[in-house]
Amino acid sequence: MIITYAKEIFLSDTKAHKSMHVLKDSAILHENGYILAIDNFSTLRKIYPQAYIDDRADSILCAGLINAHAHLELSHMRGKTAKGQGFPAWLTSLLCKEREEYHGQIIQDTCHQAYQTGTRHIADIASFQAGRTSTQAIEENISLTIFEEYISSFPFDVKKLSEKIQIEKDRIEKILTEKIQLQKQHNSECQANAFQSKQCQNNAFLSSQLLANTSQSNECQNKQPLNTHLQNENIYNIKLLDEEICANTFYSLAGHALNTTSAENLLALKTYTNQNNLPFSIHLAEHEDELAMLFSEESDYAQKISQALFQAKYKAPKMRPVPYAKKLQLLDDKTLAVHCVELDDADIAILKESACTVCLCPRSNMYITGKKAPVHKLIAAEIPLCLGTDSLASNDDYNLWNELAFLKREVFTSLSLEQGIQMLTSNPAKILNLPLRGKLAKGFYADFVSIPKNIAELFS
Ligand SMILES: [Zn+2]
Repeated sequence: MIITYAKEIFLSDTKAHKSMHVLKDSAILHENGYILAIDNFSTLRKIYPQAYIDDRADSILCAGLINAHAHLELSHMRGKTAKGQGFPAWLTSLLCKEREEYHGQIIQDTCHQAYQTGTRHIADIASFQAGRTSTQAIEENISLTIFEEYISSFPFDVKKLSEKIQIEKDRIEKILTEKIQLQKQHNSECQANAFQSKQCQNNAFLSSQLLANTSQSNECQNKQPLNTHLQNENIYNIKLLDEEICANTFYSLAGHALNTTSAENLLALKTYTNQNNLPFSIHLAEHEDELAMLFSEESDYAQKISQALFQAKYKAPKMRPVPYAKKLQLLDDKTLAVHCVELDDADIAILKESACTVCLCPRSNMYITGKKAPVHKLIAAEIPLCLGTDSLASNDDYNLWNELAFLKREVFTSLSLEQGIQMLTSNPAKILNLPLRGKLAKGFYADFVSIPKNIAELFS
């Protein structure tokens, strides 16, 4: 057992998902990656005198962060696309042969950076081959919601889709089996050294990969076997078991956007996800060319898109994105509407009524179009908000603290730290249906993170 003591702890209302409570001078009792209790330090110390002490007196803790919109498969496209010239120019620069290449090492490096900066789960849009990125993410202790994304009017077979999802589930199962095998192997080696290595036993919940590494380098017998991940001698690194990472890695479906995917396909996707109690993701009201294409087939952009993606001639519905999404029954409490930049007041009222969640990607919007979502209005309407980095084809990194800092500095200066943490933790956990993530409470995962000092200062 470990007692982690901190200056402040950001909890969350476990029932309503509505408020974020901050406890001062408190501590978290945890074991094997799960939170057992949160109370003041002296109480926990008295009841559990044998527990190790993890002293983070200078830290502010919150639950592990969740990136609600990313495209890991585009990580190799960083710096290779048109910046600030609008969506059509950006898309043209993206649609090159190189985009379809798969760069596993770059994806793994991106996941590594995400983990190092507090991200524990990513909602990853997969356009080419769903599931490929899970190998790299799991290796870096990040779980994924893999949204297999559909685009165009070419019909797809729902039965084949189910078979495909099963294949991907089996693939993750295989990764896990191999990892558990490695872990067992390590544990037996560890037990042989048990008298010399108490630390190793105490950290039996650490990932098999990490254990395998420590085993290989014989660090297991040292006093501080995990010091590559320790911030200082007193801080314990908490990583979830591979079983937990894999159990939180699951598949769902996404529609690309209203102007790029046929109404029939969008409806089929949404029906499938609702029937299977899965979240559904769609890029919605991202840019003015999407809006224009929903009103007219005439622009160059509309003609290019319709020639490439629509079998029959594309017909503009002549509606704004949000009312059109409502008409297609795409908006409900299982929908994650991504971007939502081009909104008027009536659109915001529809989003509120539908109970959907909005994912903001402020740095990506700035990169592509230079525009900002009406965040103050979305917050005033009490629409649940999340944050996503989007891909490295329109952003610099997968550091969600940088995303939050940008939102605060450039988009909505009145944002509170509580609101920001909610966007990064409890709101995405709820829409992505991650029952043990997003909050610090008894029974939840103990893979909490420290809020960086520069972020705490920015909001003070
Ligand atoms: Zn996207």
